[in-house]
Amino acid sequence: MSEKDKIMENNPSVNASTSRRMVILGGGESGAGAAVLAKKQGLDVFVSDLSEMKQRYKDILEKYGIAYEEGQHTEEKILNADEVVKSPGIPDKAPMVKKLKEKGIPIISEIELGGRYTQAKKICVTGSNGKTTTTLLIYHILKEAGLNVGVAGNVGNSFALQVAEADYDYYVIELSSFQLDNMYHFKADIAVLLNITPDHLDRYGYELQNYVQSKLRILQNQTKEDAFIYWKDDPIVSHEIEKLKPQVALYPFAEKKTEGVKAYTENNQIIITTTKGEFTMEEELVALTGKHNLFNSLAAGIAAKLLDIKNENIRESLSNFKGVEHRLEKVARVKGVEYINDSKATNVNSCWYALQSMKTPVVLILGGTDKGNDYKEIEDLVVQKCRALIFLGVDNAKLHAYFDGKIDQIRDAGSMDEAVRQAYELAQKGDTVLLSPCCASFDLFENYEDRGKQFKACVCKL
Ligand code: ADP
Repeated sequence: MSEKDKIMENNPSVNASTSRRMVILGGGESGAGAAVLAKKQGLDVFVSDLSEMKQRYKDILEKYGIAYEEGQHTEEKILNADEVVKSPGIPDKAPMVKKLKEKGIPIISEIELGGRYTQAKKICVTGSNGKTTTTLLIYHILKEAGLNVGVAGNVGNSFALQVAEADYDYYVIELSSFQLDNMYHFKADIAVLLNITPDHLDRYGYELQNYVQSKLRILQNQTKEDAFIYWKDDPIVSHEIEKLKPQVALYPFAEKKTEGVKAYTENNQIIITTTKGEFTMEEELVALTGKHNLFNSLAAGIAAKLLDIKNENIRESLSNFKGVEHRLEKVARVKGVEYINDSKATNVNSCWYALQSMKTPVVLILGGTDKGNDYKEIEDLVVQKCRALIFLGVDNAKLHAYFDGKIDQIRDAGSMDEAVRQAYELAQKGDTVLLSPCCASFDLFENYEDRGKQFKACVCKL
């Protein structure tokens, strides 16, 4: 029996196109994980990365005897692939991806590959905002309830690596639109679609609908036995679901009860109703604050309920969840001023939710690499809640053009140190200093984590 036939026999979910030579484009977390899994499945694996690879990933590949190259793509070693796993960071317009497409070589994502080799139940979370928070919240509930569960996506080890090396019964997986783009046969047992607002349009031909279609792929292959949890008040999501009429158990959630909604709030209580019974909890006992986090908690609560987690376990986990670094993270209180790090707010919509949850006057630090932002969305909240704005970026012209004249105090900062010092000067006792930048961080920082860490370090020095 050939290697391929053996894989097919052991893994009925394996798609017929599974084949011998597997090339992995990109040697980061997902690429290295995919390589290990493919190697363990007996495939002839080759990893190619145009940039230099981190030592950690090279060590993994060497440990498993996997061939790789870095700083280049050697065509002869790539275009002979039977199938390619592409890292989500590599865009479709990359020359090598174009060549692979011209040759008709199938390209999949690491999650698609992982899904072929596990029978575990998969709870998958997507949306424009809130993915990491909701993924970690669901994971927290399941783990605290004693389930044998792994978490994958933006956090921890890649899904493929865990499938190769661990033996979980459940996975909670965060799925970006880029990962979804190269998924075909993968099926989520429980899918969560939190919201859709414009993001990453540069990768979608500046067409919102392309991005929407990508997000909707989370539904593909789901059957009546599976569940789809979504935010009913999101106009894009609910419109698409009405059009699609997916044949899957629907679990819409919303702030208030309306027809068909399965999770909502009423009289300061969270109420969730599923085929597995009802769950209620005092809203104020939920650890995560802000309306957006209420939605994340509703979505997580439905998923947990569908997995038969006991109500007391769900309640306890929703009330003791510590939150996620860089997402409305309380840093310190200095001279009666609260400092909050929301560095992960890299688009206008997430800043809207941050501002919306503020109960005091705010000194808002925003700015960075603009992704085609329209600040209209936050204008009312800024005018209503912000005492001052600090623009933190290399080029703040667009922010000035929009906000000048609308807020009395506006300052520029060219470094985090400067921004925090200015915020300290401007804030009054009882205020909140909020870093919620609306923008990517690459003009002044390595990434949003670096930006958030610098913020925290500067605040701690005050
Ligand atoms: P993602 O993984 O989708 O980027 P995160 O959980 O990392 O989402 O949160 C990113 C930002 O979005 C944070 O600033 C957070 O405060 C905000 N946010 C979290 N959940 C939501 C939501 N449901 N709707 C809108 N914004 C949200």
